[in-house]
Amino acid sequence: GANRAKNVLILMSDTGGGHRASAEAIKDAFRIEFGDDYRVFVKDLCKDHAGWPLNNMESSYKFMVKHVQLWKVAFHSTSPRWVHCFYLAALASFYAKKVEAGLKKYKPDIIISVHPLMQHIPLWVLKWQGLQNRVVFVTVITDLNTCHPTWFHANVNRCYCPSEEVAKRAALDDLQPSQIRVFGLPIRPSFCRAVLVKDELRKELELDPELPAVLLMGGGEGMGPVKKTARALGESLFDKELGKPIGQLIVICGRNKTLSSSLQALEWKIPVKVRGFETQMEKWMGACDCIITKAGPGTIAEALIRGLPIILNDFIPGQEVGNVPYVVDNGAGVFSKSPKETASLVARWFGPDSEELKKMSERALKLAQPEAVFDIVRDIHELSLEKGVISQISSSLTSSFFIPSPET
Ligand code: UDP
Repeated sequence: GANRAKNVLILMSDTGGGHRASAEAIKDAFRIEFGDDYRVFVKDLCKDHAGWPLNNMESSYKFMVKHVQLWKVAFHSTSPRWVHCFYLAALASFYAKKVEAGLKKYKPDIIISVHPLMQHIPLWVLKWQGLQNRVVFVTVITDLNTCHPTWFHANVNRCYCPSEEVAKRAALDDLQPSQIRVFGLPIRPSFCRAVLVKDELRKELELDPELPAVLLMGGGEGMGPVKKTARALGESLFDKELGKPIGQLIVICGRNKTLSSSLQALEWKIPVKVRGFETQMEKWMGACDCIITKAGPGTIAEALIRGLPIILNDFIPGQEVGNVPYVVDNGAGVFSKSPKETASLVARWFGPDSEELKKMSERALKLAQPEAVFDIVRDIHELSLEKGVISQISSSLTSSFFIPSPET
């Protein structure tokens, strides 16, 4: 029937907190915006692939032979160069099997890919199942600036770009303006819509009510020069002449247990809180005045929403390098690899350069896009309404793949 709930399948790969965070954000926004009208499933394509691909080569090969027609088409016309090597072809077939299983299990009306390499394969799978006209396929890009060209595929219904810079790249890569939308990076709704008051948060989180606070972190895994930076801040935020602290430090170590226990063992001259993985990052960010982090897109977008000036101290080569100019060129932060330099900058921000800190905070807020995740799900909703009209016209061609819902 026309009123059955639609199924949404989000394809992600848990390689770092960022992709999962985006997938979860989209799922939450669908629930808030549309309630039971959509059922959203998140499929982690990387799960249970321990030891892959060598232990799996044989079955991957069999799969390829079975679908030899597909692979012929795929490899000789539309395929990107990386598929031509056998190893990568096998990897592709591994993913194709997962996508195929996902289609069977969830019967999606909409597929959302938040994975940089996951446009070609699901689109092939849809094509060979004869579903490309019935299923809405969109990409949500989770890199803020430079991004890998495999993100772009000409056959998607939409490509959601987090920034104008990424949109430009998409256009250069032959996507049509009608396919491109720029709303921002999807961030968990609990983050964007929370009304938070700094004084109350500080009480709740048991922080010093007066001292300016710096948040130090390194993504979900607690990466980057966190320990060295913490120590340097321990010195720079202590005023030796007056014998008292000029700021406080909060370190969120994520899943890095070694880091948190080694920091907990240190002695400090300033108020310091060392925490493990926190589920309410919006509160910790809301209680602080600036942040030091590696250049993870999720953390950056969240910090901008909270108006936190950002010191970027590290990046994952390749995927995160472009996030640095996004922050720095927009005047929302600085880049420094040196823990000493970082620590003395924070000390200046908490002292003589407080005006500079305030200005950066304003620019951060200007850059923030708290509504992005809602704009994205509303646009997907519109797309699926359009697609629904088209597929009703051609409903005489109903594929056996779709099981009619009980009320019809
Ligand atoms: N995060 C969290 N709790 C923690 C540490 C990190 O919820 O203790 C979240 C953080 O708010 C962000 C994500 O994990 O949403 C990290 O994503 P990012 O893209 O910054 O880096 P990644 O960890 O993916 O490399």
